[in-house]
Parts: sequence; structure tokens; C-alpha cells
Amino acid sequence: MHFSVKRRDKLQGHSDLPVTVKVQTYDEDLAEEDEFEKQILDGEIVTFEFDAHEFDVTCFVGEWQLDVWPSLTADDKDTLTFGIKKSNIDVIRYHESDVKAALETKQKLEREAEQQQVAALKQHASQIIDRKKVTIAALLALFILAPAVFGSLMAHDQHNEALRNFLIVVALVAFCVVGYIAISSGLHDNRCDKCNSNLVRIFKTDEKFRGTYSSQEHVMDRNTREMSWRQVVKTDFDISDYYCCDLCKHQWTNRYIRTTSAN
Ligand SMILES: [Zn+2]
Repeated sequence: MHFSVKRRDKLQGHSDLPVTVKVQTYDEDLAEEDEFEKQILDGEIVTFEFDAHEFDVTCFVGEWQLDVWPSLTADDKDTLTFGIKKSNIDVIRYHESDVKAALETKQKLEREAEQQQVAALKQHASQIIDRKKVTIAALLALFILAPAVFGSLMAHDQHNEALRNFLIVVALVAFCVVGYIAISSGLHDNRCDKCNSNLVRIFKTDEKFRGTYSSQEHVMDRNTREMSWRQVVKTDFDISDYYCCDLCKHQWTNRYIRTTSAN
């Protein structure tokens, strides 16, 4: 049989709130048979096709029941008209608060996911190069170390040895301070390619003999202070340093040739 449900709201302002129309069919023994569901907006009509001894029609907004027509048969009218009416207002409010709660839960989950992302992006201390220290070291080098070196050269030219010695001491102290700050900034640390952490270490080193050969070298003779050519025996080794990052567990290998020489 064809069975249609028409929606004509009597209470205005909810025409785009979808209503679910559910048809439950029963056989001769009134055992449940089939279940059909369709959504309907104000002004629309939905049609169901089924064969049943008896059937119930129920309208819902969300999980909430608006209206029910129980125990209909094929002998009843084949079209049923309903609409949201004033007495449904409570049910609609319950549904709206369900929707609001679901939205709030969704927003809460989204916020939590966002916070987790922010936490993941927050860097580990070992991944950060202290740019402030780099700047301080550069400024000290520019405004104290360089002028002290330059000043000591000038003082030497002017035969002011006392000033020269003082400026050399200033330059040495400045050099040590600049070096210390630059090193502690982490600028020149060995770093992981993947995460930029300086928690890297060599966990294994392979050394493979490559070959021995002799080569000419231009060297200064310590006694005569003259340059001369000398035959030197050299040995090459293939070195493989295996690194790993303790922060992200990334591993990599650095290969190079190490040469030792013997006279
Ligand atoms: Zn890493």
C-alpha cells in the first residue's frame, strides 16, 4: 500500500526543523515486521510503500516524540496530516537543548584537541638555540672585543706599552666571555636534522683500514728553519660515526676519512 504523511505546521518558526516520521509495521499476530523512517520539513509530503496488517506512525524531533498514531490499518485513510503545534513547544525545547549540549561537547573536544596540538608544538629545551645569548655575544664582540684588539694595536704603534697590555687583557677576557656565551647559546651544537635537538650522541663508531701510501710533504725543518720536502707515510681509515637523537630517536650516520701520518 501507499501511505503518505503531510506536514503543515500550525506553530510558525520551526519550518526547517526536520521531523522524523517512523512507520512500524506488524503482522497478523501483531509481531513487529518492518520499520521505515523518513525526514520531513514543513510543507513537504513523504510516501511509504509497504504491506502490513497493522502499523504505527510516530513523529519525532531528534529523540523526542511529537505525536503517535497507533494501530492504523489499510482501511484507514492513506494520507495523514500533522504539523508542529503549540503543545509541542516543550518537546522542541528538549530537542534544542540536546542539540546545544551536543554542540558544546563537540566544541569541548575540539578545544582539547587544539590544546594537545599546542602542547605537541611546544619545544623541548634542547631544541632551542638561545638567540638572546647569540645577540649578546655578537654585541660584546663588536663593542668590546674588536675595539680592545684595535686599541692595543694602536697603543703598540704609539709605544704605549702599559695601555697596550691593559687592552690585551681586556681583549682576552672579552674573548673568553664571548666564547662562553656563544657556546652556551647552543648555536654550534651538534643537532638532530629532524627535531633540531642537541641531545645527540654517537652510539657506535666503525673504523675500516683503507690503505697506506707515501706522500711528499713540504715541511719546515726545526733545526735549520728552512722549508724542505719530506717523504711521509700516511694511512687512511674509513670512519663511520653512528648518531642517534635521544629526543626523537632519529638515527643517522656520518662517514669520513681519517688520515694518520708517520715519518
Ligand atoms: Zn631528534
